[in-house]
Parts: sequence; structure tokens; C-alpha cells
Amino acid sequence: MLNITLYGPPGGGKGTVAVKLIAKYQLFHISTGDICRKRIEIEDSLGLEIKAIMDSGQLVSDEIIIRLFKEVADANLSVNGFIFDGFPRTIEQTTLFEEFLHKNFPDAQNKCIFLDVSEEELFIRLAKRSDIEHRSDDASPEKVKARIETFKRLTLPVIDYYRDRGLLSTIVGTGKTPEDVWAEVQHVIAE
Ligand code: AMP
Repeated sequence: MLNITLYGPPGGGKGTVAVKLIAKYQLFHISTGDICRKRIEIEDSLGLEIKAIMDSGQLVSDEIIIRLFKEVADANLSVNGFIFDGFPRTIEQTTLFEEFLHKNFPDAQNKCIFLDVSEEELFIRLAKRSDIEHRSDDASPEKVKARIETFKRLTLPVIDYYRDRGLLSTIVGTGKTPEDVWAEVQHVIAE
């Protein structure tokens, strides 16, 4: 079994790489961002709460996101492997995540890939994505800035944790085409 965890700032290319990974390796994709966006469509109090948090560039609480993650992950334990896209994003989520992997897939091969892109390029990419996808959390430079700050404060410590244990492959995406990045991702997976 192969699990791939994608880390990266907003606009770093996680979604683009995930689409290619699904096609090539037939892995089950869990994007907690997509799960949140679907939950918002229900328009109940939890959906409204998630929308307000997403629009402000903050993270949904660990309690809520862990519950949403486990609902989907636990219902799909018999797949070939997972692509974890946007989870875990805090140290608390990482603790739960490690327990989940250890309990369910003690023998799996786990690849952690960090897509590292300069802040300057993230602003340019997300402005373009906003024109195409009209995501409300990409809608202004202030919103993008808030998400990048949240990433630095809460998610970089998770990335450091995996790097310190020698478990992280970093791919620099700045100035590269999606095809260049994809070639490097495949190289990391084949290693
Ligand atoms: P993404 O599509 O991965 O950029 O996620 C969009 C938004 O969903 C984030 O800015 C957060 O508000 C929320 N979100 C997604 N994944 C998580 C997570 N693991 N923990 C907390 N909030 C999350």
C-alpha cells in the first residue's frame, strides 16, 4: 500500500499534483478543503461556521476537521492507498494522523511531499485561480495573505516535524511548470 501526503502553501500546487497522482496510481483522494467546501453547500449551522472560517483565511478547528477527516477515511479503509491533500495541517492533527496510519496501515509505504513555492509566486498564482475558479477565499490579496500567514504559523511546524525525522521530500515549485513539478513528484515516488 502506498500513501502520499501533500504539503504546501495555498496555491502551491497540491490540487494539480493530486489530480495527476489519482490518474497514475489509482489512489483515493482525501482533500479536507474539498470536504469543507462540500459541507458548506449543506448550509446548516456547521456549514455556515466553516464558510466564515474559510473566508477569513483561518483553519477550521482541529475538533471539526478531525471528525470530517475520519468520517471519510474510516469509510474507505479498503482502498489501494490514499492521497492526503491538505491534512494534517496542525501538530494536533498530525498526532491523530500518525495514530490513524499506525492503527490501520502499519506496513504501508508513506511518502510526504512538500511543494515549496515563493510567496511572491503564490500571490500571482492565486490571483489567476481567482479569475478562473472564483473561490471566495482567493478573492483578494488580503485573504490570500491571511491564508499564507496561517500556513506559516500552523502548518510549517508540521513540515519541520517530518523534515526533522528525514521523512520529507521537498520539491521547489517556484518558476516551474506543472509538468516540471509532476516529473519531480514521480521521481520522488519511484525512489
Ligand atoms: P484548501 O482547499 O486545502 O486550500 O483548504 C481551504 C480551507 O479549508 C482552508 O483555508 C481551511 O479554512 C479549511 N481547511 C482545509 N483543510 C483543513 C485542515 N486540515 N485543518 C483546518 N482547516 C482546513
